[in-house]
Amino acid sequence: MTERRERVVVVGAGLAGSLAALHLARRGYEVRVHERRPDPRSALAGPGGRSINLGLSARGMRALDGVGLLDDVLKQSVPMRGRVVHSPDGTVRFQPYGVREHEILHSVLREELISRVVDAAEAEPGVRFHFGSRMVHLDRETATVRVAPTGGGEPAMVRADLVVGADGVFSAVRQQMQHGLRADYAQEFLPWGYKELTIPVGDDGRPRVRLEALHVWPGHEGLMVAHPNRDGSLTCSLFMAHEGPVSFAALDTPTAVVDFFRRHFPDAEDLMPDLARQVADHPVGHLVTVRTAPWRHADRVVLIGDAAHAVYPFYGQGMNSAFEDCAVLDRCLAEHPDRASALAAFEAARKPHTDVLADLSAANFEDLRGRVHRLGYTIAAAADRTLARLLPGRWVPLYAMVAHTTAPYADALARADRQDRILRGAGAGLVLAAALAATTLRAGRRRSAGR
Ligand SMILES: Cc1cc2nc3c(=O)[nH]c(=O)nc-3n(C[C@H](O)[C@H](O)[C@H](O)COP(=O)(O)OP(=O)(O)OC[C@H]3O[C@@H](n4cnc5c(N)ncnc54)[C@H](O)[C@@H]3O)c2cc1C
Repeated sequence: MTERRERVVVVGAGLAGSLAALHLARRGYEVRVHERRPDPRSALAGPGGRSINLGLSARGMRALDGVGLLDDVLKQSVPMRGRVVHSPDGTVRFQPYGVREHEILHSVLREELISRVVDAAEAEPGVRFHFGSRMVHLDRETATVRVAPTGGGEPAMVRADLVVGADGVFSAVRQQMQHGLRADYAQEFLPWGYKELTIPVGDDGRPRVRLEALHVWPGHEGLMVAHPNRDGSLTCSLFMAHEGPVSFAALDTPTAVVDFFRRHFPDAEDLMPDLARQVADHPVGHLVTVRTAPWRHADRVVLIGDAAHAVYPFYGQGMNSAFEDCAVLDRCLAEHPDRASALAAFEAARKPHTDVLADLSAANFEDLRGRVHRLGYTIAAAADRTLARLLPGRWVPLYAMVAHTTAPYADALARADRQDRILRGAGAGLVLAAALAATTLRAGRRRSAGR
């Protein structure tokens, strides 16, 4: 750093923005964060904020460890040792996430996690968070933003040396940074949306289902996943089409809701005593993939997290990759004294991999809907785990590479493809069971369920 403390404005204090603020402060910048929502730590944050819980995996854990927050965050999380698949025929199967003790995920509450990171960032000198402050305009040439109080009031201009756009999937920073330039932008809405529902703790004060797992109710017309909470409740995301005969729009009466659950998730109805009210009251969220380039403008603006690469949530990697962005951006700033080069290196290091993640996440939507409860899938997953156990370090299932390692996403996919080729090439030398597993894996490899 030079003697003059350079100023960074971070737009958005979500997962990416709050962690980026912490890194940048430690790198010596003066940091101002503008977040349109209220402070997640205040009571105000309740109804308007997203209270979803998320699966934290290796990439996110490594990034949190890098700033000394992992132990603290894990204390607030619930370990998920595998997924419990509830089939439409009533069978319930547990599928472990990995073969080693540490190969698990952790369920964390988004707002709680952000609060921890904001606390840590605020403890650094030169960091200020401005909640209830929306960025309304960016001048990319001067790194100047106009911010306005969310509840109305006089806007203010804030001049910076660098603006970090961490303002999520519908990023205003991205839009204004790219406006009028040669930029690629593709946004794809899934015809399905999601609603959050809660499985409350049982009347006896105990969880209604096995707690230390992600619960999945697969189905072509509707899909539900549930993450566990520390109090014994579970937060569900119900995914289904926005419109059509079987859709959120069609769940317009209590009878329609109960009929739908009885038909598709027969064992879930009893887990939610106020199911119809929850479905009626809760809003439907959108699911969006964004691919774009560039992620940066000169040495003055850079995008991170969903603003740069939003993906469907079916591999459980959006937050994890957003956290990974923060660590990689920090490394690039350390390695390249010239900031324009640092931002270019950051984009080059990340974009090929987040593009692959978008593909994997879209493909897993189909898997979670239609394959995860099939016998063939269960056998293939078991064969994958067996090979991983027999050939430690030499055979790593794609899911394990994505969730339990920090191998870049495209490298993980390329290695999985190589493993498939080896298995197929072994042909006659392999026992029949392995050959059968290879065929199944080949068909399903790119789509092995990510949640
Ligand atoms: C149903 C669902 C389940 C998911 N499950 C998982 C999971 O299990 N694991 C996982 O890793 N990921 C998961 N994700 C993805 C994850 O939530 C996102 O990838 C992650 O939140 C991205 O973080 P972010 O900080 O980039 O964006 P966001 O979290 O969206 O934060 C952006 C912030 O910017 C603020 N903002 C926006 N515009 C402005 C403005 N103009 N001025 C000021 N502030 C602004 C917003 O208020 C927000 O706080 C899931 C997503 C969904 C929808």
